Amino acid sequence: MPIPNIIAIDGPAASGKSTIGYQLAESLAYLFFDTGLMYRAVTWLALARGIEIADETAVTALAEEVPIEVTPPSQKDGRTCDVTVDDHDITWEIRKPEVEANVSVVSAYPGVRTALTQQQRRIGLRGRVVMVGRDIGTIVLPEADLKIYLDASAEERARRRYTEILGRGGSADFNEILSKVIARDRIDSTRAIAPLKPADDAILLDSDHLNAEQVLQKVKELCLN
Ligand code: C5P
Repeated sequence: MPIPNIIAIDGPAASGKSTIGYQLAESLAYLFFDTGLMYRAVTWLALARGIEIADETAVTALAEEVPIEVTPPSQKDGRTCDVTVDDHDITWEIRKPEVEANVSVVSAYPGVRTALTQQQRRIGLRGRVVMVGRDIGTIVLPEADLKIYLDASAEERARRRYTEILGRGGSADFNEILSKVIARDRIDSTRAIAPLKPADDAILLDSDHLNAEQVLQKVKELCLN
């Protein structure tokens, strides 16, 4: 069988989708596209411009009007893409806690989803792509040739995020990370439009007892079978 042309990887917060997706794309020489970055960029922009996150009309207008550029990484500082708005590199700013605390509200707005889904679909349909998010296999690219739903318990995902922050020299509170991961999952999986869920034809991969290398190995096997 040929290597799948369009690969969709979905899953909850901090499930390792981006790490695995990036490495898979690198090994196949495919484009890696992390759709969460776009929702984060709209959220960052709303906060930076002093727009109320609860103001759905204003936030939606931002998503419709402001071009968000997601391009291959220009620096080797751990990033998987460059995210640029108005020539301003916001790659790391969109990882900040204030963005994370608001992104699930922004991504539940139907108009925001319509605007971003259209852009994602256009990019995905060019093929030779690994696209990661929450609704890639269900809504953005239902025709994907391979759909993977990467899961792990909330505790394990919070533990990984915690270890990652400490590894970067930061400080963190495990219980706070856990409750934020659970809160984001709840909003993402209960929203009316494009909720987080596996596509009917997705392959479920539980990574609770696997390290990143083992998950990547399994995903590569799925691409070759
Ligand atoms: O994947 P990441 O954690 O960066 O995604 C940030 C947020 O963006 C998610 O919590 C979710 O609210 C939203 N998102 C989404 N649909 C996608 C990707 C991300 O709703 N396809």
